[in-house]
Amino acid sequence: MINLRIPGPTPIPEQVLEASSRQMINHRGPEFKEILLRTTKQLQELFVTTNDLLILTASGTGAMEAAVVNTLSPGDRVLVISIGVFGERLAQLPRTYGADVQVLSVEYGKAVDPEEVRKALQADPAIKTVLITHNETSTGVTNDLESVAKIVKGEFDKLLIVDAVSSIGSIACPVDEWKLDVVASGSQKGWMSPPGLAFVSMSPTAWRASEKATMPRFYFDLAAAKKYLERGQNPWTPAISVFYALDAALPMMLEEGLQNIFDRHARLARMARDGAKELGLTLFADEAVASNTVTSVNAPEGVDVAQLLNLLRTEYDVVLAGGQGSMQGSLFRFGHLGYCSEEDIEQCLDALKSALPRVGYTFAHAKA
Ligand code: PMP
Repeated sequence: MINLRIPGPTPIPEQVLEASSRQMINHRGPEFKEILLRTTKQLQELFVTTNDLLILTASGTGAMEAAVVNTLSPGDRVLVISIGVFGERLAQLPRTYGADVQVLSVEYGKAVDPEEVRKALQADPAIKTVLITHNETSTGVTNDLESVAKIVKGEFDKLLIVDAVSSIGSIACPVDEWKLDVVASGSQKGWMSPPGLAFVSMSPTAWRASEKATMPRFYFDLAAAKKYLERGQNPWTPAISVFYALDAALPMMLEEGLQNIFDRHARLARMARDGAKELGLTLFADEAVASNTVTSVNAPEGVDVAQLLNLLRTEYDVVLAGGQGSMQGSLFRFGHLGYCSEEDIEQCLDALKSALPRVGYTFAHAKA
């Protein structure tokens, strides 16, 4: 069996796989209505929110696009906090729709210092909205969203849009407690489901912003999604098979319990980091803010990452991810989110231990 250890898509449990192969149903009929209402309610529970939650047929980017076009107008001044490749994409999105984007850029491998957010908001009162990546998948870093939210919401009362694509459901991100206005994720991340559905929660403040927002929207019109949800439907034809999968996966998550899920992810991440260090490898991310869903490891000197990943895939059945953007070739990443156990990480580390010397690595620096 392939050990797919990239940070999404992630493997799915057998019963979820089986559920997703069921026959089609009428997406405007009573069976689909039940599934839609049930999955929506369970997702609200897992987002720890009473806000509206909309399930869109899209990947995570679709949910982020919905977040932006439903709450902003061209010319709006927004602050994007970027700590990696997904933060850069987060800046590109509102820019594409004509927003006036200011970027607070942080060195790769580090989290944003909340004090810098305070300074940026103090310096520019025209900023209406703040966008942030909770967990930066490209560098393997988690921002201290709770502290950032206290500043953005508690001190400055700005609209806060969160890319929680690779965090929520795996790393604590209690939407209501932290007063997060718009929060987005995708089914292929921590949700033990295939790609194809995206989730977005909208606070009452976000809905008020949507009434004034003039960015163009059609497919991702969240007011339309909410209106149809009230009838137990999606506005458009939904990815029914992925709904089947989600409907099987969410009860498994609720049964494990959010805190247990968070603890398991913390354990797996520690195992991945410690295991890499024991092999003499060094971590890319500042360990104090290292992510519990993805671990980034520096490529050792003289090792060709592409060759290493290829060897792992072809001879060890382990699939890891390389670096993105300017980090390509200089690091590789383990995903450990969603359906993942200690054995999966062990297998990964064993494979690395065996494969590394075959691509020119010497264990000289490894701990005895
Ligand atoms: N943001 C983050 C933090 C992500 O990890 C990803 C996916 N890797 C995305 C956005 C984009 O999501 P998708 O590929 O589902 O559109």
